[in-house]
Amino acid sequence: MRILLTNDDGIHAPGLEVLEAIARQFSDDVWIVAPSEEQSGAGHSLTLGRPVRLHQHGERRFAVSGTPTDAVMMALRKVLPGAPDLILSGVNRGANLGDDVTYSGTVSAAIEGALAGIRSIAFSQVYEKEGMGDTVPFAAAEAWGTKVLGPLLGAPFAPRTMVNVNFPPIAAAAVQGIRVCRQGFHDYARGSVVEGTDPRGYQYFWFGLHGIEHTPGNATDLEAIQDGYVSVTPLQLDLTHGPSLAALAERYSG
Ligand code: MN
Repeated sequence: MRILLTNDDGIHAPGLEVLEAIARQFSDDVWIVAPSEEQSGAGHSLTLGRPVRLHQHGERRFAVSGTPTDAVMMALRKVLPGAPDLILSGVNRGANLGDDVTYSGTVSAAIEGALAGIRSIAFSQVYEKEGMGDTVPFAAAEAWGTKVLGPLLGAPFAPRTMVNVNFPPIAAAAVQGIRVCRQGFHDYARGSVVEGTDPRGYQYFWFGLHGIEHTPGNATDLEAIQDGYVSVTPLQLDLTHGPSLAALAERYSG
């Protein structure tokens, strides 16, 4: 089984090492093609206005000077000797729950894999508070990664779907289990904007993730994480809101 690993935190991110350890439990044919720099929040963006560069860091380890989507495209079209059987993205430093998924480079890399018809899974490790840098603990991901991935390898994945996995921010022994659940939503997904003045006297603004509020419930990924479970959520690329189709069509008829 050939496995492609990527992420949005960059090729040197600690979470990518965690993911590699998980993948190696299942295969020795593991390839890493990841962004050279952190791309968190890049979503599904594709670099069109400038070239991207490919740098080889090892026998099956490459960095791409672009987005997670760029990395997956490069892997599938230029780097790997043949299509992978599986694409794993992560383990992201931080949650990709509820509405986060549309901003997420981690999830988008898996979306790109799903578009290519390849079984693709995104992994994210939730953490408690900002300001921890690379000291964010991946304990739950390390202990539960293979337990989550194993059953997903044989599971049917419908076309244009992928699976989004989040690990709770607690010690491995405190994890309650694995819960398959729907995507939740944030009540108010504004985040924060920090304002300051740079060393040359120019005003700047810096987006943060503080202040995003949500009310877990309704058997969502947010609720699973709050309850101490690993969340497993199948996502579909078709964003059509079916119930609105008929009502909208009526507006343009007659
Ligand atoms: Mn990230």
